[in-house]
Amino acid sequence: MSQTNSRQFAVERDCHVHTRLCHHAEGEMAEYVQAALHKDLKGLVFLEHFETGINYFEPTWLNEDDFALYFEQGLSLREEYRGRLEIGLGVEVGYNPSRINETREFLSRYNWDLIGLSYHYYEYEGRHINMLSHKQQNMDEFSAIGVEVVIRDYLRGLLEGLRQLPINVICHLDAALRHHNEVIFNEEHLELIRLILSEIAARGLALEINTSGFAHRGEPYPKGWIIRQALEMGIKTTVGSDAHRPTEVGRYFEHLNPWLLQLNNKGDAVTGI
Ligand SMILES: [Zn+2]
Ligand SMILES: [Zn+2]
Repeated sequence: MSQTNSRQFAVERDCHVHTRLCHHAEGEMAEYVQAALHKDLKGLVFLEHFETGINYFEPTWLNEDDFALYFEQGLSLREEYRGRLEIGLGVEVGYNPSRINETREFLSRYNWDLIGLSYHYYEYEGRHINMLSHKQQNMDEFSAIGVEVVIRDYLRGLLEGLRQLPINVICHLDAALRHHNEVIFNEEHLELIRLILSEIAARGLALEINTSGFAHRGEPYPKGWIIRQALEMGIKTTVGSDAHRPTEVGRYFEHLNPWLLQLNNKGDAVTGI
C-alpha cells in the first residue's frame, strides 16, 4: 500500500480561522473557541490576515492595534482553555513583492505558532485587485489583464514568497481567481506548481488542505492531483476551514478523509485543474 493510500488527514485541529478583527469576518475569538469545543476539536489555530502596502478600497486585514488586541485576547484565551483546547496564534501573510523587508520585520515582532503564506492582491497600475474576491468588477479586470498572466504571476509570487519569507505552510494553493470561469492551468502553471511543491518539500514546510473549497467547488483547495503529489513527496499537511464566522469552524472536516479515499481509489494521474 502506498503512502498516499494509507494516509488520513488529521482532522482534530482547525489550523485556519479568522475573526472580526480582519474587518471582513464575524465573531469574537472566544466564540471561535466555543465553536471548536462544540465540534470536539483538540486544537484551533487563528490565522489572521496580515497585508502591507496594499492599495485597496477596503482593509481586509488587521492593523497594528488589531494585532495587539489579537495577542492580548489570544494569550488570555489560551490560558483559560489550557487542557481543553490547544489555541494557536498564527498569521496568514499576504505576499506583496514590493514589501518583503517590511513583511519580514513585522513577522519578527511576534511569537507566531503558525505562519501561513497567501497571495491575495494583484498589483495593477498602482492599485491592487483581490484575486480571491467574487466581485464581478474584479473578474472583468482580470479578464482584461489576461487570466493566464495573472495565474502565472500569482504562482511565481507564491514561489518567491516561499523562498523569501519565514513561513510554515502555504495556504489554499490554487484558490486564486477561484470565482473566475476562464481559469485553465497551462504547462507553465503546472511547472510552477511542481516547483512550489519541490520547494515546500525541500524546506520541510507544509501544504494546507483548505476545506472552504468544499463550499465553493465540492472539494478542498488545492485540487486532488496537487494533494496527491504532495503526499507522494512526503509533504506535511495542515487542515484548515478558513472560517470567517464561528459556525464555519471545522466545516466539512467530516468529508475530508472519505474524499481522500475516493481520490486514491480513482488511481489516475490527474493533472488538469
Ligand atoms: Zn479572509
Ligand atoms: Zn484565510
